[in-house]
Amino acid sequence: MSDDRAEGVPGAAGDEHADRFETRAVHAGLDPDPSYGSIIPAIHQTSTFVQPSVGELVAGYDYARAGNPTRSALEDALGALEGGEAAVFASGMAATHAVLTATCGAGDHIVLPNDLYGGTFRLVDKVLSRWGLQYTMVDQTDLQALAGAVRDDTRLVWVETPTNPLLNVIDIPEVIARKRNALVAVDNTFATPANQQPLRDGADLVVHSTTKYLGGHSDVIGGAVVARDAELADQIRFMQRAVGSVPGPFDCFLVHRGLRTLAVRMRAHAESGRAVSEWLRDAPGATDVLWPGFSGMVSFRHPDAVAIAESTRLFTLAESLGGVESLIEIPQAMTHQTVEGSDAAVPADFVRLSCGIEAPEDLVADLEAAFARVGKRAGAARA
Ligand SMILES: *Cc1c(COP(=O)(O)O)cnc(C)c1O
Repeated sequence: MSDDRAEGVPGAAGDEHADRFETRAVHAGLDPDPSYGSIIPAIHQTSTFVQPSVGELVAGYDYARAGNPTRSALEDALGALEGGEAAVFASGMAATHAVLTATCGAGDHIVLPNDLYGGTFRLVDKVLSRWGLQYTMVDQTDLQALAGAVRDDTRLVWVETPTNPLLNVIDIPEVIARKRNALVAVDNTFATPANQQPLRDGADLVVHSTTKYLGGHSDVIGGAVVARDAELADQIRFMQRAVGSVPGPFDCFLVHRGLRTLAVRMRAHAESGRAVSEWLRDAPGATDVLWPGFSGMVSFRHPDAVAIAESTRLFTLAESLGGVESLIEIPQAMTHQTVEGSDAAVPADFVRLSCGIEAPEDLVADLEAAFARVGKRAGAARA
């Protein structure tokens, strides 16, 4: 697809950037359908686009792997929310793959956090290392250790903040101050642009699993990369069409619909996260309670972690996070099997909660009841 598609498309740029985040979340990328005026543009479920004459394209579209108006609308919206140029992908992992393959080649060195999404570690350690990608893992909360891990020839520093699953918060400007010649990419899945906009802090790339908070309803798998400058954005878009890891138009529509309520959902998630973490701090047997101060992600350790995860009613036992409904999981046995035995391994008594937007009091009552049931069983077993 030619790069001139944005020209003449209303709403692709302009003063919408001056609006506040909540306003942009509702309107970004959405212009009424030009044919019939439907307030929500049509879902362009098509593989190809008719050319009025040979090589003449309507709005720059030729073939739907290269571009699709439904996808462009979502990309415009994400670009407006993160402050860069977005490309969307079939999954968060496809987005991560695009960043790593667009920026690195055989023999290049990257720095990874030692506490990160298991799939990111697996992609680097089991796939890209076969093509010669080298990596160093480091605790990025230890700035001296970070400075020691970044070499003059390091191509990329990968940041995840808050981290999955340990919810460590990394100081992005401090990482940038130690990057030497490297690019800095931030996985912003847990924070979302409602809480953190890494490109505005000077990061080069932002990655999302849109499956999580951005989609927000546990009904779609998707990913996104947002680049600060046009040249990097072109390299990412080249990977998107060369590899073909693109989302279908209906999936783009679902993520875009989710984005419109992102600001209010993130406020509700944070209220739930606060209430649940406050209750957990005095709950019997719970230790190491963590909540980053925003979002609905809460973690804690408990000797009966598995029994608790199997005893809740509203917190559903499932992988993933960021949907309107609350989820509970045991990372060591579920989402983080891929990091077992590595520096990023997670303890077995560690519980991760994704607090949804239900009434916070109901979520607390659900945990209270589960703790009571498990406590009674443990007491009976001892007697
Ligand atoms: C889920 C997740 C991913 C991977 O995204 P998928 O959409 O599952 O491919 C990457 N990073 C983080 C932090 C995640 O939580």
